[in-house]
Amino acid sequence: MSDPYDRQRTTTRHQCRFGGPLWKVTTITPQLTPVDRRAALDRAARLRQLSEADRDAIRIAQDPKFSRWLEQVTATGGCAHPVHLSGSTTVLDGATGEILRRYDTRDEPGERLLIRCRNRRASICPSCSRLHAGDTFHLVRAGLLGGKNVPATVRTRPRLFITLTAPSFGPVHRAGELCRPRCGGGTCEHGRPLGCGTFHAPDVSIVGQPLCPDCYDYSGHVLWHAHASKLWDRFVIDVRRRLASSAGLVQSRFAHHARLSFARVAEYQKRAAVHVHAVVRLDGPDGPADEPPAWGTTDRLMGAVRASAGRVLVHTPYSPAVGELALRWGAQIDARAVRTGDDGHDDDAVAAYVAKYVTKGADETGAGIDRRVVARDDIDMVSVTPHVRTLMHTCWRLGGLPEYAPLHLRTWVHTLGYRGHILTKSRAYSTTYAVLRAERAHHVQDLDLPETITDAQWRYVGSGHTPGAALLAAGVAEDVAMNREVAREEREASQ
Ligand SMILES: [Zn+2]
Ligand SMILES: [Zn+2]
Ligand SMILES: [Zn+2]
Repeated sequence: MSDPYDRQRTTTRHQCRFGGPLWKVTTITPQLTPVDRRAALDRAARLRQLSEADRDAIRIAQDPKFSRWLEQVTATGGCAHPVHLSGSTTVLDGATGEILRRYDTRDEPGERLLIRCRNRRASICPSCSRLHAGDTFHLVRAGLLGGKNVPATVRTRPRLFITLTAPSFGPVHRAGELCRPRCGGGTCEHGRPLGCGTFHAPDVSIVGQPLCPDCYDYSGHVLWHAHASKLWDRFVIDVRRRLASSAGLVQSRFAHHARLSFARVAEYQKRAAVHVHAVVRLDGPDGPADEPPAWGTTDRLMGAVRASAGRVLVHTPYSPAVGELALRWGAQIDARAVRTGDDGHDDDAVAAYVAKYVTKGADETGAGIDRRVVARDDIDMVSVTPHVRTLMHTCWRLGGLPEYAPLHLRTWVHTLGYRGHILTKSRAYSTTYAVLRAERAHHVQDLDLPETITDAQWRYVGSGHTPGAALLAAGVAEDVAMNREVAREEREASQ
């Protein structure tokens, strides 16, 4: 009978050293065909050729505590840069002092617990950025539809979705239509054509680049960014003032009659200028739970928003090099009423639209980069378009002028001078990120027992992943995203 594994048997006889009978020893060695031998050699070569990350991943997977490590990574949703903590939490019975529950990282892999980095940028942590976008969605949605401790009556309030743009700092190439048609042709003082008769595809790199970089107002662009948040504040104040005067109120009495709430996000356009999307809502003086006065209608809010957006301005400090600029919003102002159907579809669409923007870092939109610039030479090293690089250089140069020192422009070179948060909201708009996070933590840990004392001692011991761990965590993050997608599709299919 032939050996199914095609092994070779060798039998040897050994003389017993104490004069006993002969020992018969059979050794079985696998019979390697030339093909097998080649495969074995290939396997060895492949192992040698594996990347450092792959070999590291194999090492981690062979660790006896691997399954617990994977549980931890899964609990962070496959966070790309988890924070490592070491410590313990003990829950004691308040009356007897009996230990009800104890958790200690001493038994954990590497004696540590991994928690999420919570970065909002998809380029830095796909998993946490998705979570952050979800929180933003709920935060914006609660202000439109109620929920998360916001009363459902907010859906009957005047609510607008508005988009305010930056003004023009010079013509740029644009996609989707004939770029810059011009009958007479002609060139600027630098000899460059004043028009462009091309249809550009949306993803070509020329889109957003100025027709003439020498004509483009780079100082104006950077200074506008540096004042955009102030311009927004002036805008909100002006809307309140207009509403007050249109209702025949003294401006200082506005807060006794109504309250204006908002949530806004900033987005970089192709030309690397920020524009602002915002939800604006009018309530009674006590906020979401309070009915606005009879004069507080959607039409009146719309009128005030349009008039204020067209009118407010901010003056830059005087500079011998630049002069004094009067900065305002661009002429393109979009404002529309948010209407709630029974299914809340319009509101959902607005909330999803806003949520999408907060996960985009400056890196992804191609406008600026995700980290600070510490030296002027760094600007020449980063991979950005010539237009963005010039904006960064302008920001650095203006940041060196004493008259602009209060703007801290060199700190914001990476965001092209824009220093507002990506999402800002007024206090009464809806819930907060902190409340949403606490709600989730409560859900997961349920450590909040009545009549107990909690003793917790934690310290930071590191962050991030080794190359192999990063590979495994990315796989977990993909699985989580995939599961969520499947669940969403199933939900939609069943509706
Ligand atoms: Zn993360
Ligand atoms: Zn063009
Ligand atoms: Zn020119």
